[in-house]
Amino acid sequence: MNLDVTTLMIASAFVSLVSGTLLVVAWLHYRESQAALWWAGANVALAAAIVLVALGSVVAGDAIYFMGMTLLCVSSAFTWAGARAFQRHRIMPVHMLAGPALWLAVLGLSLAFSDTRMLVPINATITLGYYASAAHGIYFARDEFLRARRPLSVLIAIHAVTLMLAVPASLSGALTGPPPPFSWFGIIHFESMVFTVGTAIFLVAIMNERAQRRFATAALTDPLTGLLNRRGFLQRAERVLDRARRNSTVVAVIVFDLDGFKQVNDSFGHATGDRVLEIYAEVTRKVLRPADVVGRLGGEEFAALLPGFDPAAALAMGERVRKAFALAAVDVDGRPVNATLSGGVASATNPDDIHQMLMAADRGLYLAKDRGRNRIEHFEAGADGGRKSKVVRIA
Ligand code: GH3
Ligand code: MG
Ligand code: MG
Repeated sequence: MNLDVTTLMIASAFVSLVSGTLLVVAWLHYRESQAALWWAGANVALAAAIVLVALGSVVAGDAIYFMGMTLLCVSSAFTWAGARAFQRHRIMPVHMLAGPALWLAVLGLSLAFSDTRMLVPINATITLGYYASAAHGIYFARDEFLRARRPLSVLIAIHAVTLMLAVPASLSGALTGPPPPFSWFGIIHFESMVFTVGTAIFLVAIMNERAQRRFATAALTDPLTGLLNRRGFLQRAERVLDRARRNSTVVAVIVFDLDGFKQVNDSFGHATGDRVLEIYAEVTRKVLRPADVVGRLGGEEFAALLPGFDPAAALAMGERVRKAFALAAVDVDGRPVNATLSGGVASATNPDDIHQMLMAADRGLYLAKDRGRNRIEHFEAGADGGRKSKVVRIA
């Protein structure tokens, strides 16, 4: 029997060390938050705690046992800190120190009064507090979809509850002498292995999920303006158009092209040109609604997809962007740039696809350039025998 407990203890300590190592390696790979490092620390502390508690209660005596109990507290505080880091929340040192400090105070008092009955319950309650807070924070963080979030928090909650199993055993005096492997002690060892391996695997899965999302977002984003790039715009626009077709709602597209932008670059330099592009992005973010899809099609050409907008509304919105941009680009970093833009509008209730709409809007843009720039135009289909059926005409 004794051998079994020892085997179980060595196994669970070893597993904790291995999963701690796995977490450090994963952190080196992903460099995603400090959560993996905190949890690696938690695993190492847990491995040491398991060894010390088991050794202490079987052969080595109280001092070793109490050190192990202290490390249990520290380990749970590390797990809590990892959960905070995972959610990108601040880790207050006072919160991290409070649990172990409370434990040491209780330990000191218990030893002074030679009454150790409350030690295990207090220890289990403190660790329960850390684990419950960690599990709760991970479970209820809603801002980001992550497949492994729920299972991860459930594992932590189960771990907290399992550690509480030691409480009734300790109160009934079962802590004297070597505990049998299939008692609460064995269960804690076994569950600890599931906990350390499981949390490590789920955390690595989450780091991977986050990394993939980062790459996917980067592939669809224009780095200069932070707007969608051409691919991102077309992708998102197709989704919005699908929905519009299903609901038979009207959708408008505006294409914007900065006026005489080559001249802006030539006169004020490429860096100032870049600033003007950023100013355009700031203006559209302010003027357009969150539901609108805004992207940089390339160079100094942009597009906005406006669900629910007929040509008149789109023209009015285009005007607002045009005016706001002209105002914002009068003075760029102290230079009299006076940049302007032109725009073309198209609108449809049953749009074929985004490319058709962009082509229709482009005709409006040519018209605007033709009519002297710094204006928004709607090319009325049919005026030159073009497509009449889908593009709504202004009355
Ligand atoms: P128009 O009024 O007819 O649109 O004239 P334009 O000069 O704006 O048109 P054109 O297409 O000839 O020039 C576009 C210029 O935009 C040329 C290119 O150097 C500049 N450009 C494209 N991408 C960038 C960029 O990322 N940064 C900067 N600074 N300039 C860019
Ligand atoms: Mg231009
Ligand atoms: Mg252009």
